[in-house]
Amino acid sequence: MTIKVRFAPSPTGKLHVGNVRAALHNWLFASKHKGVFVLRIDDTDLARSTVENEDQIEADLEWLGLDWGEKYNQSKRFELYDQCADYLKKSGRLYACYDTQDELDRRRKVQLSRGLPPVYDRAGLALSQEDRLGLESEGRRPHWRFKLEGKRVAWNDHVRGHCEVDTSSMSDPVLIREDGAYLYTLPSVVDDLDMKITHVIRGEDHVANTGTQLEIFEALSGFFKISALPEFAHMSLLVGGDGEALSKRLGSMSLMQMRDEGIEPDAIVAHLARLGTSDPLEAIADRDVLIEGQDFAKLGRAPARYDFQDLLRINASLLHNLSFEKAKPRLSAIGIEQGEDFWVCVRANLTYFHDVIEWNDIVSAKAEVRPLDRSLKEAAIASLPNEFDDTSWKQWTSAISDRTGLKGKSLFMPLRLCLTGKEKGPDMAALILLIGRDLVQKRLSGT
Ligand code: GLU
Repeated sequence: MTIKVRFAPSPTGKLHVGNVRAALHNWLFASKHKGVFVLRIDDTDLARSTVENEDQIEADLEWLGLDWGEKYNQSKRFELYDQCADYLKKSGRLYACYDTQDELDRRRKVQLSRGLPPVYDRAGLALSQEDRLGLESEGRRPHWRFKLEGKRVAWNDHVRGHCEVDTSSMSDPVLIREDGAYLYTLPSVVDDLDMKITHVIRGEDHVANTGTQLEIFEALSGFFKISALPEFAHMSLLVGGDGEALSKRLGSMSLMQMRDEGIEPDAIVAHLARLGTSDPLEAIADRDVLIEGQDFAKLGRAPARYDFQDLLRINASLLHNLSFEKAKPRLSAIGIEQGEDFWVCVRANLTYFHDVIEWNDIVSAKAEVRPLDRSLKEAAIASLPNEFDDTSWKQWTSAISDRTGLKGKSLFMPLRLCLTGKEKGPDMAALILLIGRDLVQKRLSGT
């Protein structure tokens, strides 16, 4: 059996961490099992879906390196949905309803006041052909509900284990609106069947839909002449680092914003691949390691804590290990033509790649530095080696120490501040070679 999974975003907005996590697990699972990763654009809501959002979703997935084998747009598949809807109508599972929202609300209130569950009373099902024609002649248009069997629907969820819902406690869901528009439920099931999706991997917010969808799967299995239904894996929701709901900033932060902030795609992937699993969060750039390690059994049912600090730590750590070969074109792209010695010297000080600009300025010319006080300045200038090599820093600082009696932090910190303007940074022995003697001298003398 070929594994086939789908990531099904609605192009009504941008991708954010929650749906990227679903995309990633689909991709990792497909990659691990040499299966197919389908990108399905759920754009049946023609009014709210935009081509810009769709293009951005594709660009985001490409940026993350989550390549898909097949792509579909639901908006191009209405013919098939119509055929399936007809099939369900003929088999008595899809029935016309004419209730207005007001009527429904009123009846719900009565049910509640009598202590009854507010389940749709199937008024539509009781209508005769004559009743329907009468209503339509008044100008009413039908919406269509799926007739649930009202039974226990169970599935073995790859994340949540045994799951069960009782569809008798649910209202028959509306699948087609009065204006003829399909709600998400039917096209999703039709596509999962038609595309022979083997595993539906998505967020736990869809658990409630699964009972209904399984009944629709069964109702359509005759149309598609298949017996095997997809398996499900519902991933827990993300919460903030403090265990509270994901903050507005993080919850709605789009991938585009993360990219603009300087987050590496590999950091997002490494973070989300292991978030909420029993594996430690680590800066793993090798996709094969993440693919190999993907296992729904490692995902907990508890909400996963999404901590931006973890992501930053992974981001920094990936940069600290980024080879010059990989860094070079990225440096060139931002106008920095430095050699490997520069990259190796500064990379351990980066949280974001763009931090490198500041270090390039420091070794090139521009830097806000702190002047030395007089006695230290005189001693530093007087003992500055004529030529710089690997041993210069050591020799120079011990000569200054001999002259001034300063040692340790009281010697090194003023020098670092005078030469770089920063309290922390790369090894000074390597850095002064990059800054060069002329610039060192200029900064010492404050010119
Ligand atoms: N378009 C749906 C969503 O974005 C897809 C859900 C599913 O994976 O079934 O929530």
